[in-house]
Amino acid sequence: MKILVKDITSQLEDLAPIEYAESYDNIGLIVGSYDQRIQNILITLDLTEEIIIESINKKCNLIISFHPILFKPIKSLTENSFSERVIISAIKNNIAIYVIHTNLDFIWEGTHSYLSKLLQFNREKVLFPKEGIMKKLTTYVPISYAERVRNSLFEAGAGNISNYSHCSYNFDGFGSFMGNEKTKPFSGKKGVFHMEKETCINVIFPSHKLNIIKKALFTSHPYEEIAYEIYSIENINPYLGIGIIGDLTEEMNEYDFLIYLKNRMNLPCIRHSPFTGKKIKKLTMIAGSGSFGIETAIKEKANVFISSDLKYHDFFKSEKKILIVDIGHYESEKCTKHLLKSFLKKKFFCVSIYESETDTNPVKYFY
Ligand SMILES: [Zn+2]
Repeated sequence: MKILVKDITSQLEDLAPIEYAESYDNIGLIVGSYDQRIQNILITLDLTEEIIIESINKKCNLIISFHPILFKPIKSLTENSFSERVIISAIKNNIAIYVIHTNLDFIWEGTHSYLSKLLQFNREKVLFPKEGIMKKLTTYVPISYAERVRNSLFEAGAGNISNYSHCSYNFDGFGSFMGNEKTKPFSGKKGVFHMEKETCINVIFPSHKLNIIKKALFTSHPYEEIAYEIYSIENINPYLGIGIIGDLTEEMNEYDFLIYLKNRMNLPCIRHSPFTGKKIKKLTMIAGSGSFGIETAIKEKANVFISSDLKYHDFFKSEKKILIVDIGHYESEKCTKHLLKSFLKKKFFCVSIYESETDTNPVKYFY
């Protein structure tokens, strides 16, 4: 079976919509063609020249990278920097490069889902819910068609609120219209004022599903001209955003917790603030650089905050209220390789999917 780059990217974008990525991010297909046929796939945290060599050796012509190799626009493509050499080498060897980054961090099934399973804690909600991602649709449907339109909207992804699906608000009333000579009204006659018993249906949906929702409305609604309103709402989804907060299955003292963390995540070392003397039960975590989350973790009365790239002064913020832990940037995100591999393996059987074996961590530890 022929698998193209676009078959893979559409599955990844169903999992982690590109609209969820941070504005500074650079995700999606950055080298190659959507119509390129896939041989094998290599998944990596970072893109380096060694990763291109590994990809060639494993006959992979699609690399999926978590970290973008390009953040800023480049003005030239010479061999002056490693990122330019990687891009040139990928093009010469017909290797496509796809990046899935902060959009994978933001989804409930993403980076933090894997970490919570690894550390066996129950996730309660995200630490920083993403704003501006919800919309509301109001439409007016002849009563006999209300069920059909409502179900069509639900199937397209509308009406989900936390653990509830099929959520809508409906009320009946009268709609009025009068079509001109060019119309073919669903009920009534053209040129004649008409009152129709209608149901007003209200549903919310995630912004990235706008086109799918509109299509569902247009194909299920019987009217020639459909009256509807779509507007942005400020509601947040507690399961969509950055970081995570949750409870450990069993509380432990801080020393035992650090041993547990080190073993479960296979960490070479841990940097941490002074022990608080309290038990660890409520845990907060941000994979990658997360120093901005310390104050929120304290407000949430968490016992521990785990992240990376913390500065000297960040550890002072603990004030014995919380144990602040830095596990290393690479270490906090390397799980994304397993996460993406297991997701794609369930969807595509006829290509080999590899996790890169190259250690791309630019930080080395000297004991
Ligand atoms: Zn990162």
